[in-house]
Amino acid sequence: MLRNKPEPTRRWLDLAPGDPVIVIAGKDKGKQGEVLRTLPDQHKIVVKGVNLLKRHTKAGQRRGGVQVAQGGIVDFEAPLDYSNVMLVCPSCGRPTRTKHIVLESGARALVCRNCGEPYERVRKTEAQ
Ligand SMILES: [Zn+2]
Repeated sequence: MLRNKPEPTRRWLDLAPGDPVIVIAGKDKGKQGEVLRTLPDQHKIVVKGVNLLKRHTKAGQRRGGVQVAQGGIVDFEAPLDYSNVMLVCPSCGRPTRTKHIVLESGARALVCRNCGEPYERVRKTEAQ
C-alpha cells in the first residue's frame, strides 16, 4: 500500500542524529561527539557529551517533560548552535565543510571538501 506522507518543510541541515561532529567554538571547543538530536527550527543541535550542564533537581519534579525519579545533580546536554560544530569526515578523519551535490538519481548527497569523498550517512532511525 502506498502512503504519500507530505514531507515536513524544514530547513536543510547538513547534520543528522548519529553523525560524528567536532565542536569548533565555545567552551567545548575541540570536543568530539555524536549528534543526538537536531532542532532545525532553532538552528541548534544536541551533541553527546558536549555542552554538559548540571541541573539541580528535587525528586518528583517535572523538568523538560521528564519525570525526575531521583533528586540530585543531573548532567544533561544542552543544545549548541548549529554553526558551532563541524562534521568529521569518516574518510579523511578531519573536520570538514561539506558541499551538496545532486546525484543523477536526483538524490542529494554531501561531499567532503577536503578529500572529495561522498559522505554516506548511516541512518539509525528515521525519527529523532
Ligand atoms: Zn574527507
